[in-house]
Amino acid sequence: MMKDGPAVTTALETELPAGCRPGAFGNATHLVCRACGATSPLGPFYACVECFGPLEVGYEYPRITREEIERGPKSIWRYQPLLPVPADIASFRSTDPGFTRLVDARNLADDLGLRQLWVKDDSGNPTHSFKDRVVAVALSAARELGLQVLACPSTGNLANAVAAAAARAGIRSVVLVPSNLEQQKIIASAIYDTTLIAIEGNYDDVNKLASEIAGEEEGWAFVNVNVRPYYSEGSKTLGFEIAEQLGWRLPDQVVIPVASGSQLTKIDKGFRELIKLGLVDDKPYKIFGAQATGCSPVAQAYREGYDVVRPVKPDTIAKSLAIGNPADGPYVLDTVRRTGGKIADVDDETVVTNILRLARTEGIFGETAGGVTVGVTAKLIADGDLDPAAETVIINSGDGLKTLDAVSGKVGPKTTIKPRYDAFEEFWKANS
Ligand SMILES: *Cc1c(COP(=O)(O)O)cnc(C)c1O
Ligand SMILES: [Zn+2]
Repeated sequence: MMKDGPAVTTALETELPAGCRPGAFGNATHLVCRACGATSPLGPFYACVECFGPLEVGYEYPRITREEIERGPKSIWRYQPLLPVPADIASFRSTDPGFTRLVDARNLADDLGLRQLWVKDDSGNPTHSFKDRVVAVALSAARELGLQVLACPSTGNLANAVAAAAARAGIRSVVLVPSNLEQQKIIASAIYDTTLIAIEGNYDDVNKLASEIAGEEEGWAFVNVNVRPYYSEGSKTLGFEIAEQLGWRLPDQVVIPVASGSQLTKIDKGFRELIKLGLVDDKPYKIFGAQATGCSPVAQAYREGYDVVRPVKPDTIAKSLAIGNPADGPYVLDTVRRTGGKIADVDDETVVTNILRLARTEGIFGETAGGVTVGVTAKLIADGDLDPAAETVIINSGDGLKTLDAVSGKVGPKTTIKPRYDAFEEFWKANS
């Protein structure tokens, strides 16, 4: 059975792993299985001992006010009481991600025929994608658990975030990526002096290898494998920030890109926690998921009415979303169905058109994942699934400078001219 609300416990005592200092995980008290509800103590665990289902973090929720949060640091650490991190987290050397801008996207709204549209622009994070949020929380768990190597299998952005966070924290990192990754993302990891291993295979192959290594090597924190429950909690901060930046209220509809599905399910968890704690008014909202057609296992399962997701072999330019066997796929289906949303996909050509659309309307250069999200938003409107009169938020989760190849054939200087005024004049006459 899946639970609707955030896991609540009052009976459970916090049981910390051996060697952990008190308060190492803030108000988090235990791990709970999302499939069967069985609880386990906090630790580097990610699969339920009863049913192998994925674990998530449970809390003894504190009483907390908007004002207390607003007095906090301008980063995700302002939400420390709702994260599995210690109260002194802001004093550690993290990349301090979050608090990215929420753009009032009037031009794009007009272009799409929406009344009110906001772009949550997470390309403004330290390594230019939303992954800095999840890595910062995973790093805290790794440190408190005494793990010495920060590692990950990655579709690109996660490797950037892990390598940078480890560099700043002064610990070792090892990142595993598919060898066909964008050059920009490879360099943007290697620059931090990480151990970068390119693997002949797709992300799902890389992920499988990472699970094997995690089982063998002691002292390694694979951010999205053995400390995944903590990692995932970082995505709640996207939901918290959207609500706070709207003046402590929830939007009507949100469109979110889906790779493993962690971001989508945790934005929803964040919204539900804010309602539960009385920080926002309880109101209905719809969560929509966006995938690229070349890797759309969750959209396919949605269309076919399935509860399980059949793995696919990815083939899309949206490499950051190219996970053929998404860990949180079933929970994405659950979330969109429960809230009345939907999951849709668009082809690569549409992804490119919509990267240009976002750039030309709002001055925001998103990566391929941003093109997927804007493209799917347009499609949902055309199909009558998104209400054009309702307030909508879309996530731009990464930076276009990391996926230049996607658009390099579409834009560029029209011509080269001599450095003379007459040459310019001739050009301008022909082009203005
Ligand atoms: C990883 C990633 C996502 C989606 O992440 P999941 O939580 O795995 O679904 C979205 N956009 C970008 C740019 C990413 O790097
Ligand atoms: Zn279970």
